[in-house]
Amino acid sequence: MAVALEADLRAQFDLAGAAILDASGLIVAPGFVDSHTHVVFGGSRVKEYAAKLTRTPAEAKAYLQAQGLTTGILATVNMTRAASEEALTASAGERLKRMLAHGATTVESKTGYGLTLVDELKMLAVNARLQTETPLDIIGTFLGAHDFPPEMERERYVELIIHEMLPRVAEEKLAEFCDVYCDDGYYTLEQTRRILEAGRAHGLKLKAHVDQYSALGGSELCAELGVVSADHLNYTPPEAMRRLAEAGVVGVLMPIIDFAVKHPRPFDAQAMREAGLTLALATDICPGGWVESMFLVMQFACRQHGFSPEEAILASTVGGARACALTDRGQIAPGQLADLQLWDAPTLEDVIYRLGHNPVKQVIKRGRPVL
Ligand code: ZN
Repeated sequence: MAVALEADLRAQFDLAGAAILDASGLIVAPGFVDSHTHVVFGGSRVKEYAAKLTRTPAEAKAYLQAQGLTTGILATVNMTRAASEEALTASAGERLKRMLAHGATTVESKTGYGLTLVDELKMLAVNARLQTETPLDIIGTFLGAHDFPPEMERERYVELIIHEMLPRVAEEKLAEFCDVYCDDGYYTLEQTRRILEAGRAHGLKLKAHVDQYSALGGSELCAELGVVSADHLNYTPPEAMRRLAEAGVVGVLMPIIDFAVKHPRPFDAQAMREAGLTLALATDICPGGWVESMFLVMQFACRQHGFSPEEAILASTVGGARACALTDRGQIAPGQLADLQLWDAPTLEDVIYRLGHNPVKQVIKRGRPVL
């Protein structure tokens, strides 16, 4: 990308035959970098979502079990295992098309609904196909440690991740990141450490889901290991926020998932700001919180978490890029990829003000119009 006045551009480059896109009256913004998603999944959990609207989580679970339905991550694991690579590519592709129409040009995509070597590899193959079959850049994350497969003893599964899955993922270069869901009832701090250290030894960059429902010390571990991003951070103590900031870890915040699950303790962005943490906003699109619009994410971040419109846009563009360890996008600057979106909005604040509105008129990916 070059950025200059028209006369200077014409002096510098031969623009004969170049396509001219007139953005008069529009706002030009960097494409969104959505740095935390579970966009590849089988089926939907609409019945569970609807049941939880009028019931406590325990009542909803009993109500659904009486109908023979499982809930939560493992329900999606069953549907994802049953789906073919083609079907998963098609359904995720549809979601990504709508995310692109809402200004996303780079989307991180996690596995974690397979929980067997074969099914995790299938999800990674879907990521690779989405990279070639959609205009978006897909940043692949191996999240074999999302939950535990019900058919296997937990410690054995951790060994499987470390000794079979990670070596295969790394050897075949199927993912850029290794991620773990560290929380009460999920991966312990000790298991998280072993998996992240193994991921790093295999050359993968690191992320982790930490402190979403409990403070097990996941953030402190993220700071110690110098991971790229620590995500969720609902229960993170202020001291741990400072350690994350000192270690240069990006905090990834997802206001729509807190809303969708009616989280008892939404994250405290103000404390993170005071700690000096670099923040990114992401959709966390998943079957438990189906959101395809970064505008909705920014609108919630501003109203519920005290982001200014400018701060929300930075966290959704350059912040998202930092959370994916990318330095070539997220800004409109010379040398950056020409990943841009054009907004039909009178002012920057209008994209926050008009709730649920999509102001995107055009999306440009690597210099080419794709919408
Ligand atoms: Zn997640």
